[in-house]
Amino acid sequence: MTLDTMTERAACPDCGAGVGLAADTEVTEIVVCTGCAVELEVVAVGPVTLALAPEIEEDWGE
Ligand SMILES: [Zn+2]
Repeated sequence: MTLDTMTERAACPDCGAGVGLAADTEVTEIVVCTGCAVELEVVAVGPVTLALAPEIEEDWGE
Protein backbone atom coordinates (compact mmCIF):
# COMPACT_ATOMS: atom_id res chain seq x y z
CA MET A 1 0.00 0.00 0.00
CA THR A 2 1.40 3.36 -0.94
CA LEU A 3 0.28 6.86 -0.24
CA ASP A 4 -0.06 7.44 -3.97
CA THR A 5 -3.61 6.12 -3.91
CA MET A 6 -4.52 8.10 -0.81
CA THR A 7 -6.42 11.30 -1.40
CA GLU A 8 -7.93 11.92 2.02
CA ARG A 9 -5.99 12.67 5.14
CA ALA A 10 -7.12 12.75 8.74
CA ALA A 11 -5.33 13.20 12.02
CA CYS A 12 -4.96 10.27 14.39
CA PRO A 13 -6.79 11.16 17.63
CA ASP A 14 -4.18 9.26 19.59
CA CYS A 15 -0.82 10.48 18.28
CA GLY A 16 -1.81 13.24 15.86
CA ALA A 17 -0.12 11.68 12.86
CA GLY A 18 -1.69 12.22 9.46
CA VAL A 19 -3.36 9.05 8.28
CA GLY A 20 -3.86 8.60 4.56
CA LEU A 21 -7.23 7.28 3.45
CA ALA A 22 -8.63 6.14 0.14
CA ALA A 23 -10.97 8.52 -1.65
CA ASP A 24 -13.82 6.05 -1.29
CA THR A 25 -13.35 5.59 2.44
CA GLU A 26 -16.68 4.96 4.15
CA VAL A 27 -17.98 5.48 7.66
CA THR A 28 -17.33 2.50 9.97
CA GLU A 29 -14.25 1.53 8.00
CA ILE A 30 -11.28 0.58 10.13
CA VAL A 31 -7.85 1.94 9.31
CA VAL A 32 -4.53 1.59 11.07
CA CYS A 33 -2.60 4.65 12.08
CA THR A 34 0.72 4.95 10.30
CA GLY A 35 2.18 6.69 13.32
CA CYS A 36 1.23 4.56 16.31
CA ALA A 37 -0.41 1.54 14.65
CA VAL A 38 -3.61 1.94 16.63
CA GLU A 39 -6.84 0.90 14.96
CA LEU A 40 -9.06 3.81 14.00
CA GLU A 41 -12.66 3.86 12.91
CA VAL A 42 -13.92 6.30 10.31
CA VAL A 43 -16.78 8.09 12.06
CA ALA A 44 -17.43 10.75 9.41
CA VAL A 45 -16.42 11.63 5.86
CA GLY A 46 -16.09 14.95 4.09
CA PRO A 47 -13.87 15.68 5.90
CA VAL A 48 -12.81 12.32 7.22
CA THR A 49 -12.89 12.09 10.99
CA LEU A 50 -11.24 9.28 12.89
CA ALA A 51 -11.92 7.86 16.33
CA LEU A 52 -10.22 5.12 18.26
CA ALA A 53 -11.68 1.78 17.27
CA PRO A 54 -12.93 -0.54 20.01
CA GLU A 55 -10.21 -2.81 21.28
CA ILE A 56 -10.41 -6.24 19.74
CA GLU A 57 -8.84 -9.16 21.49
CA GLU A 58 -6.70 -10.53 18.75
CA ASP A 59 -3.12 -11.68 18.48
CA TRP A 60 -1.55 -10.19 15.40
CA GLY A 61 1.59 -12.21 15.96
CA GLU A 62 4.02 -9.33 15.88
ZN1 LIG B 1 -1.67 7.36 15.79
